[in-house]
Formats: sequence, structure tokens, C-alpha cells
Amino acid sequence: MIIDVHCHLGQLKMFPDSYIDIFATHISHIVPGLSKEAVYQSEIMKKSFDGSPERLIKEMDEAHIDKAVVFGVDWGLALGEPKIPIEEYNKYIAKASQDYSDRLIGFFTIDPRRKNAIELFETAITKWEMRGLKIHPTTGYKLTDEKSRALFKKAIELEVPIVSHLGYITALKGYLAKPRYFDEITTDFPDLKISLAHLNYGEIEDLLNLMFCKTGVYCDFSSHGQILMMNSPPDFYRQLRFFMNFEGVKDRVMFGTDWPMTSNIMSLKDWVATIKNLGNEKVSQILNVNGYKRFKKSEITKLLSKNAQNFLKNIL
Ligand SMILES: [Zn+2]
Repeated sequence: MIIDVHCHLGQLKMFPDSYIDIFATHISHIVPGLSKEAVYQSEIMKKSFDGSPERLIKEMDEAHIDKAVVFGVDWGLALGEPKIPIEEYNKYIAKASQDYSDRLIGFFTIDPRRKNAIELFETAITKWEMRGLKIHPTTGYKLTDEKSRALFKKAIELEVPIVSHLGYITALKGYLAKPRYFDEITTDFPDLKISLAHLNYGEIEDLLNLMFCKTGVYCDFSSHGQILMMNSPPDFYRQLRFFMNFEGVKDRVMFGTDWPMTSNIMSLKDWVATIKNLGNEKVSQILNVNGYKRFKKSEITKLLSKNAQNFLKNIL
């Protein structure tokens, strides 16, 4: 069994136009010799924003991923409303998870500052068969605000898990999604079950510390993992090993893909293979040079499925 706890569905028209433009500019700055106009015409744009359920299922099949948690983004209040409003975007996610109910687990997403946020959240869980909440505080709200707190209270009442973005991000305010804010809300809401994404994009000590102290906090290594594998594989092995060295914490680290954006870096199939091969000689030698233990088979099972089964226990 392989479970992906962080996956996006959606189409270009579900994102704010300004985000698409900033994204294209960003790519042109990091890929040598590629102009912004060339980015728009490139496969990169197509692969990044074609998040159809059909494409996802096909790529999951190739990678032997059994289940994926899927959600959209709600960036309209920060970057301008997209052509498809957020309610409709969420319904698109809900429909995909109904159409592929044995494979896709739909999470509802909303900016808590929206007028009908709580009401829509409740409807999504009780009527649209959605099974969790995804948040992205980088749009400009604090997790400690009253409106955010109301959303967390509702998640506890509905007994659903939460996935949140964590760390810096292009076009949005990543500092609002840093561990210190989650420290405050997990202290005030000890019953929250929440997974923080992307290994905090490399600021790992802070996240590890939070997870060690707050046992309702899980994490995924999507996106940051593939980026490290592209640029600096030994650092990926070491960072993941660092988390897996800690008793308790190692039961809450989960595989994720952040598909489709990351499909430009690595296919789902290659990403799964990377994790399955963590115990091989080459990786073990790299870890050994740095004084780290090798990955055991049982730890790889925790990463690919066992920990996610716990995180999703009541809703799988
Ligand atoms: Zn994501």
C-alpha cells in the first residue's frame, strides 16, 4: 500500500491570473536561457497546471500509488479571484473523489476570511463527502485569528484531519505558515490532527521540535523532497533520516508528491522508486559518511503508508 497525502487537482482557470504570471516569471528566473514568453509556450506550464483526475489516476497507476489526498487552493483574496470561484473548485475536487472513491480522498479548502467559510466547510464534509481540510495561511491571515480558530473548532467537531502548507512560497507570504503559528494553535487545540507540508522547505529543526512536543502534528516531505533530489540528493537523505531518528516523530512523517507542479521535476513513478530505494547501498554509504543510520525496510513502510494510515485512520 502506498499513500500520497499531498496532491493537487485543478485546471489553469482555477488559479488567479496573477499567480500564473508570477509563476512563469519565477521559472524564467531559475531556468537559464528561458524567457517568460518561452515558459508560457513550454511543457512546464502544461504539466504544472493540468491537474485532471484522469491524468492523476494514470500516473498513480504507473507509480503503484494506491490512494491520494487531493485538494485545490484558495488564493483569490490575496492574488485576485480566478475565473472559477472557490465553491465550484471545491465541488470539482469532491466530484473527482466520488468518481474515484477507492483512490482519491477529497479535502475541502477555504480561506477562513471568506464570509461563508464555516458553512461551506460543514456542507463539504456532511453533504459532498469530502473528508478533511486543507489550509494555506500564506494568503495573508494568521492562524491565531478568530476566523481561523473557528475553522479549527469546526474541524475538531467534524472529526476531520487538516493538511497545511508550511514554508516560503513564490507569490505568497510563507512566513505566516511557519511552525511558530502552529505551536500556538496546537497548544490551544490539542485535539487537532494536522499535517504540515514540505518539511518546512529545509528549516527542519523548527518543524522537528514542534512535532516532538505536539503529538497531533504530522508532516509530509512533498515538493521539498523532489527539489532536493534534483539539486542535492545527499541533503534529502540526511534531512529525512534526521526526522526518522526520533522516536515518536518517525511515526508521523509521510510520503507526498505535491503533484502536478512537481511532475516537472520528477515523475510519480521515479519519486516512489526514490523512497523505496532509501535502504540501498549507495544511499546507506552517503548516510554512513555523515554518521547516520541506514534506512530500515520497516521505516520505508512507515513513510510510504503506515504513518498515513494513522493520520487518515477515521476517514480511510
Ligand atoms: Zn501543495
